[in-house]
Amino acid sequence: MKRETKLCHYGQPSRPGPANPPVVRASTILHDTVASYRATKAARETDDSVLSYGRRGTTTAHALMEAIADLEGGEGAWLYPTGVAAIAAALMALVRPGDHLLLVETIFGATRTYCDKVLAEFGVSYDLYPAATTDLTPYIRDNTRLVFVETPGSQTYEVMDLPALCASAHAAGLVVVADNTYGSGWLCQPLALGCDVSIIAGTKYLGGHADVMMGSVSARGEAAALVRKATHLSGQSLAPDEAYATLRGMRTLALRLERHEQNALALAAWLDARPEVLRVLHPGLPGHPGHEIWKRDASGSNGLLSVVFAPGIDTEALLDNLQLFGVGSSWGGFESLAMPIAPERSRPSLQGLPEEAQIVRFHAGLEHAEDLIADLEAGLTAVTAKG
Ligand SMILES: *Cc1c(COP(=O)(O)O)cnc(C)c1O
Repeated sequence: MKRETKLCHYGQPSRPGPANPPVVRASTILHDTVASYRATKAARETDDSVLSYGRRGTTTAHALMEAIADLEGGEGAWLYPTGVAAIAAALMALVRPGDHLLLVETIFGATRTYCDKVLAEFGVSYDLYPAATTDLTPYIRDNTRLVFVETPGSQTYEVMDLPALCASAHAAGLVVVADNTYGSGWLCQPLALGCDVSIIAGTKYLGGHADVMMGSVSARGEAAALVRKATHLSGQSLAPDEAYATLRGMRTLALRLERHEQNALALAAWLDARPEVLRVLHPGLPGHPGHEIWKRDASGSNGLLSVVFAPGIDTEALLDNLQLFGVGSSWGGFESLAMPIAPERSRPSLQGLPEEAQIVRFHAGLEHAEDLIADLEAGLTAVTAKG
């Protein structure tokens, strides 16, 4: 069955029945007999779809777990109240005191901060490695356990060669964890490309409507068993309303991403031709670091693009002038966003640019591209006329 068709049918109850799994709110699950209670407890040891207690998820969360595991190609998927909670849970499941980690230089900021402020207290250290790395040998120490990847990278979208990197990591006995929020299980399949664990901040495209917070960890092999155990023992779960909203969002994931991609590419082309713009960062553009690898390993791009403006362009005034682009954190919802960003200037995609150049990250929403471009044009005209 095609993936688009599966999105429409994930978690559907048996017929006659509702088209979506109902929101089942429960802490206690009642049994008539002690024997039934005991049998349920025993069954959940090996089966996450057993309805045993609210902390282990009700049927609503179970439907979503199955859907995400299938989308990501994992042996299982586990759910968390935010994307960062999913990242923290995966790291806590796989890392031990004294371990050394390798984080890609373009890693999502909060992932690195978690390592700096929490894992460091457990004697866990890390080094950064370049996004273009295919051979990890120079970075591996005796106590290295885990490699964290994210492709394309946060904010600047450098593409990683996951098959090559995973081969190098596995040859050294390391576990590979991917932040797959950019592709959200649709554009890119890190587990199929060799990773052991794939994390999605479902807050972004899975929910897709800027009204849900959630995260997932999908995994295979030994890593799956470790993530499952740590998740259950640490009491992680996702509330049924959030699980419902996420699965509802996933019904239109393919359709939305198609439009987000078209709009982002339209904005990229228009901005690239503007005199105020020095560079547009987007993995779908020829010449972008790793563009050929992205074409090989992914099925498309999403609504994100970052734009480097020429020194002298007042980007803050530009953002204040935009009507359709809201200023705010996160992305992946139906709405367009713009936000000033300040990634490290050492990143490959930022080479050769003046230090004073300001960078803005845009998220192209589902509006009509012509309206978005007209908004940008009006905003740029206002700031350049003033300057
Ligand atoms: C947003 C994001 C997260 C964190 O998700 P939250 O739900 O906001 O905690 C993690 N990784 C990436 C790449 C993200 O963009």
